[in-house]
Amino acid sequence: MARILVIGGSLGGLLAANILHRQGHDVRVLEKVRGSMDGRGAGIVTHDALFAGLRRAGLEVTDSLGVQVQRRVALDPAGQTIVSIAMPQVLTSWSRLYEALHQILPPERYVQGVSVQSVTQDADSAQVHGETADGPQSWTGELVIASDGIRSVLRQQLAPQVQPQYAGYVAWRGVCDEAVLSERTLSTVFETFGFGLPAGEQLIGYPVAGPGNDTRRGHRAYNFVWYRPATGQALARLLTDADGVSYQGGISPNKVDWRQVADMRQAARALLAPQFAEMIEKTAQPFLQPIYDLACAQLAFGRVALMGDASFVARPHIGMGVTKAAQDAVALADAVALHGATPQALRAYEQRRLPEGQAAVARARWLGRYMQAQTDPAGAALVAPGEGQSAAEFVAETAIDLERYGHQSSFPGAAAHRSSFAAVAQTAP
Ligand SMILES: Cc1cc2nc3c(=O)[nH]c(=O)nc-3n(C[C@H](O)[C@H](O)[C@H](O)COP(=O)(O)OP(=O)(O)OC[C@H]3O[C@@H](n4cnc5c(N)ncnc54)[C@H](O)[C@@H]3O)c2cc1C
Repeated sequence: MARILVIGGSLGGLLAANILHRQGHDVRVLEKVRGSMDGRGAGIVTHDALFAGLRRAGLEVTDSLGVQVQRRVALDPAGQTIVSIAMPQVLTSWSRLYEALHQILPPERYVQGVSVQSVTQDADSAQVHGETADGPQSWTGELVIASDGIRSVLRQQLAPQVQPQYAGYVAWRGVCDEAVLSERTLSTVFETFGFGLPAGEQLIGYPVAGPGNDTRRGHRAYNFVWYRPATGQALARLLTDADGVSYQGGISPNKVDWRQVADMRQAARALLAPQFAEMIEKTAQPFLQPIYDLACAQLAFGRVALMGDASFVARPHIGMGVTKAAQDAVALADAVALHGATPQALRAYEQRRLPEGQAAVARARWLGRYMQAQTDPAGAALVAPGEGQSAAEFVAETAIDLERYGHQSSFPGAAAHRSSFAAVAQTAP
């Protein structure tokens, strides 16, 4: 049994902590946020690898985990269906997964109110130093797993050259209650994974559990993500609150300027199908996130490893952030089972996960290319001459489970996965 410290108690940290705890290790999660973290985040697309990770963490994967859709549709600005394809998929939400993973970890293993500042290490152990309400404190473990997100302080210490790269666009996000939607919206789009594709923009949406993680008909909600180009002054305005205070890198949901929300709703009425405009209008507090790419060249630093969003952030077009964190957690636990809680285990983990992380970032950039081409010459370079970008292609490629649907992907890097796709494709619905 080894002492293992996990920094960050969001979905990545909880997955790693639960799996390692079940392997018999003495795990401690150190999380900055005090009190309830419920209500953070919105919808999560699932993949089979996420379910495998959840099972390894000790969760029973049942229908109550999410909402199943059977089809994907794209609507034109008049609200007419222009693409419709069968593609069953389960959609869940951040709070549903957080609640389930938090509940199964013994409470003494989840320490909140610790803002980790740095890590030191010697031949036998690593020491984590943090601030708590009672002042500075340190913890010692054989391994430290940094799952502290895109702004990871441990990554900034160990690999300061790695910085998030802004993609040139933001995502407006929100969740609208099923109960307030019109009959037309409910019957044409609510039960589907929906797309709106105005020029240079993309909206995706899907049903998720409603308040209280309720998945009953009439009690669910629709999660939307609307990608819109924003650079320079336009981006600065989006990241400035109604009192004129500007934020770097992102703005918390309750600080988003109501005038920006009003402008966005007006644009929705002009550019999107009325069904999507209605959802956006009826969502009390839409929020926004700038979209970043992040890629590391190294994940293992002696007794410290980076995982989840601390190691790679692929744009959400591939809908894989949580799945990737689950795959990282599984790979870490496998490596520790094989090599013990040693630097060698972390190197083995790195070898397995580096290529996967790089491939995820590349595929997400490829999916985001048509938007970026509007604002950034580097984005335009991702589009091969003559390459078609039809609505159907985007609908069929966005947020797909490669294990199920990779055989039909036209992503140039997909060929490398074809052999593994082939076997699974036989069983795909
Ligand atoms: C628009 C958008 C849509 C998305 N859609 C999807 C989707 O459909 N499917 C999907 O799988 N993913 C999606 N994601 C990504 C997903 O949210 C993350 O990839 C996922 O949560 C894994 O993150 P993580 O646990 O590694 O880090 P995070 O969730 O960022 O958690 C980091 C944790 O570390 C804590 N922390 C930070 N610093 C410190 C510190 N110094 N000391 C202690 N604790 C600290 C934080 O409080 C936090 O709890 C989306 C993201 C965006 C922006």
